[in-house]
Amino acid sequence: MPNSPVRVPYLDLKAQYQSIKPEIDAAIARVLDSAQFVLGEEVAGFEREFASYCGIPECVAVNSGTSALHLALLAAGIGAGDEVITVPFTFIGSVAAVIYTGAKPVLVDIDPRSFTIDPMAIEAAVTSRTKAILPVHLYGQMADMDSIMAVARKHKLLVIEDAAQAHGARYKGRSAGSLGDMGCFSFYPTKNLGAYGEGGAVVTNNAEYAATVRKLRDWGQDRKYHHALRGFNYRMEGFQGAILRVKLRHLEDWIAARRAHANKYNELLADCELELPSEIPQSRHVYHVYTVRARNRDALQAALVADGIQTAIHYAIAAHLQPAYANLGYGKGAFPHSEAAAEHVLSLPMYPELPPQAIEAVAMAVKKVVARNARTFV
Ligand SMILES: *Cc1c(COP(=O)(O)O)cnc(C)c1O
Repeated sequence: MPNSPVRVPYLDLKAQYQSIKPEIDAAIARVLDSAQFVLGEEVAGFEREFASYCGIPECVAVNSGTSALHLALLAAGIGAGDEVITVPFTFIGSVAAVIYTGAKPVLVDIDPRSFTIDPMAIEAAVTSRTKAILPVHLYGQMADMDSIMAVARKHKLLVIEDAAQAHGARYKGRSAGSLGDMGCFSFYPTKNLGAYGEGGAVVTNNAEYAATVRKLRDWGQDRKYHHALRGFNYRMEGFQGAILRVKLRHLEDWIAARRAHANKYNELLADCELELPSEIPQSRHVYHVYTVRARNRDALQAALVADGIQTAIHYAIAAHLQPAYANLGYGKGAFPHSEAAAEHVLSLPMYPELPPQAIEAVAMAVKKVVARNARTFV
């Protein structure tokens, strides 16, 4: 099938910039005028405002979500000889950050409905070396935090939330990142709260963890050229802080738009033989991505491309089956739910500015393909 010109892009970052251009341009001009290009007042302001948004006292901004995870783990005292329990069905950064510290990622399977860590599987993976659980709030939906916190309390484990896809997601009224000991965010441009470059943050209730992350991000300095800790250059840029402050003011509206788009997809695809995303009770899913499951995912994706509709796959290969992580020692078949998800998930176009006609066009195209060969695509 020849590919048609793109009718519906998977994502449109330009549309969002156009919608807030005067505010962004003014913010960039402020940074140029102040010449505070690294950290500085805009970054400090963003830290205060994002902490308040998350309903938590401390926020330390860094230069990526991966850096946030790395420093949170280090601040928690995790290193060689320790084990951290996380999932294989995630962006690779969740697993890589554990390895950066010298600790061993111990992987457990996901719950197939929510795509997040299966709390029952955690318990079975705890050993005397386990120090922390690293749940990933995948796709914008929080993991089952009550069950996770219960296992953590029972075994005296720390909980570090990977909230890189879950800005503003809630669980029983509490914000992603604020339930565990530390929460880690990414502000990569495509995330729900995205910088115009790289960015990340650690949020926490614990002032001591925050102070350690603050030192570690800036060469372990407690004062200039005095290195109390072996740190890193993980500082956030001034431009990103200023841009994120502007975008944070719009985040609730953007989340509302994403949720409305998800509802519309749900409605239009209700009688389509695909598995639609499910929301866990008493939670707010922020639809970083809108992901369906299809039996013949690759053929569905190819047919949509031919129809001018871009989609994405998050993620086609689970971490334990990535060549670079073969030495973790898990083979094919180790995590059936993660492997099945990797084979069947497909993310449909989703961004706040997505026009209603585009959602209709996507839904119509999906239905057409699924109906054309129900047996193949269910
Ligand atoms: C994006 C992401 C990260 C890494 O964030 P970067 O800012 O790209 O370093 C980590 N975990 C998850 C689940 C992510 O989606």
